[in-house]
Amino acid sequence: MAAESGNHCYCQERATNLAFAETLKDLPPGYCGICDVCGQPGHMRAHPQLPTTGSWCDEHWQAMLASPGITLDVLFKWAFIAVTVIVVITAMIRWL
Ligand SMILES: [Zn+2]
Ligand SMILES: [Zn+2]
Repeated sequence: MAAESGNHCYCQERATNLAFAETLKDLPPGYCGICDVCGQPGHMRAHPQLPTTGSWCDEHWQAMLASPGITLDVLFKWAFIAVTVIVVITAMIRWL
């Protein structure tokens, strides 16, 4: 078994969900995601500060837990989502 950080990850899902396991077939056993930061094998988990899910290696997971701030990368992702929502709403208002 892989070393755990005490947080829920998707390793259990990989063991039980064949469709999910298929998406991870290139990953070594004991991991359930590719780190969003460095691309190393890691674990997919719920973000500690945001209502989203991502993958982090143990090193970057610990670094994120240690820093209470939101990273620029996450900020850009949410800004992109916000802009998309505004554009869709604007388009819908025009159709009415
Ligand atoms: Zn895992
Ligand atoms: Zn990493």
